[in-house]
Amino acid sequence: MSEAVNLLGLDAQALAALCGQWGERPFRARQLQRWIHQRLGDDFDTMSDLAKDFRHRLKQQAFVRAPQVIRDHTSADGTRKWLLDVGAGNAVECVFIPESNRGTLCVSTQAGCAVNCRFCSTGKQGFSRNLGVDEIIGQLWLANRALIASASQAGAGVMRLDADERLAGEGLQSVRPISNVVFMGMGEPLQNYAATLSALRLMLDDNAYGLSRRRVTVSTSGVVPMIDRLRDDCPVALAVSLHAPDDALRDQLVPINRKYPLAELMKACQRYLDKAPRDFITFEYVMLDGVNDSDAHARALINLTRDVPSKFNLIPFNPFPESGLRRSTDARVKGFAQRLIDAGIVTTVRKTRGDDIDAACGQLAGEVQDRTRLKERNARIPAVVELR
Ligand code: SAH
Ligand code: SF4
Repeated sequence: MSEAVNLLGLDAQALAALCGQWGERPFRARQLQRWIHQRLGDDFDTMSDLAKDFRHRLKQQAFVRAPQVIRDHTSADGTRKWLLDVGAGNAVECVFIPESNRGTLCVSTQAGCAVNCRFCSTGKQGFSRNLGVDEIIGQLWLANRALIASASQAGAGVMRLDADERLAGEGLQSVRPISNVVFMGMGEPLQNYAATLSALRLMLDDNAYGLSRRRVTVSTSGVVPMIDRLRDDCPVALAVSLHAPDDALRDQLVPINRKYPLAELMKACQRYLDKAPRDFITFEYVMLDGVNDSDAHARALINLTRDVPSKFNLIPFNPFPESGLRRSTDARVKGFAQRLIDAGIVTTVRKTRGDDIDAACGQLAGEVQDRTRLKERNARIPAVVELR
């Protein structure tokens, strides 16, 4: 018998193909998909409207399993962060950020990252491996389950998960705690393209999470050819991590810039907008004291992005040991933002959320890895990453 498969790793097409091999009709695959991703089920015995022999086969040959939670922390402002075991001493994180009008989940796509941005603790850990679809979608699955369970314990916004409940797409959205997903956790999603694409398709699928394209954001350091592929395959909202207004500085801060310089990146952003669900690109810009935060940098940035309809998100740098960098002062961030606003660019400054649990990119997993001496082990594993 072939090895049992984790159904969390299968998008609609793959699940239909598997069920087809078993002689099941396509609507059975859709039913099963709804059990897994809408009702968040993992126990085939409770999937009462599936035929008995189908359930029996599922029990023999399949399972539904998200990564194991190593740590689960909620900060004073409600930000909740899970640290997840993805095997071989690797840990990734996923963060839920509640706001009055939405709940955003920040997901990881890789253990470590090969891009190695100067200011990023994930990058400093090196690249370990790509996450599978099951591990990416598993973050959304387990976060939904955990948040619903907590809400249910607190007696608020309860979503019943019993077998007879009908969860129509519309009604489901109103009770689901997660309305938005951002690919801004660990890793570069466009260097794990196939898995990211399948996970995106499940997020948008009406028989799964049914999120709107506008509410799912892929953040990239600028893998130009893959920005074009995403545009053709599954255009969702796009955020580009800019961090510098000229190639000389960006080469230092975001090394992938040496391969795909700013002029090419700006053109890719323009092309993306033809099909994007939103009519702007979000540019992320980490504010580093004395490095990229002067008025001259702001002017150069305005010039660089002149032809790309965009919004700016300024991110106060989240310091970590041995980074050798400092966060720009609040006054400087304000001054910089004002320059952009005066030039007519919509600009926001990212609130630092969950500070008491280190909810910034790569931070908590960094601690665990140091403890398990993963860095040394990783150093011996050659990181083979296709930088197409
Ligand atoms: N690899 C993708 C997505 C993950 S990083 C990317 O780079 O876009 C998500 C965001 O967090 C990026 O904009 C990244 O530049 C930013 N970031 C990384 N390290 C940071 C730090 N120490 N402080 C503040 N923002 C950071
Ligand atoms: Fe990778 Fe993004 Fe960190 Fe750069 S900022 S090292 S691309 S995770």
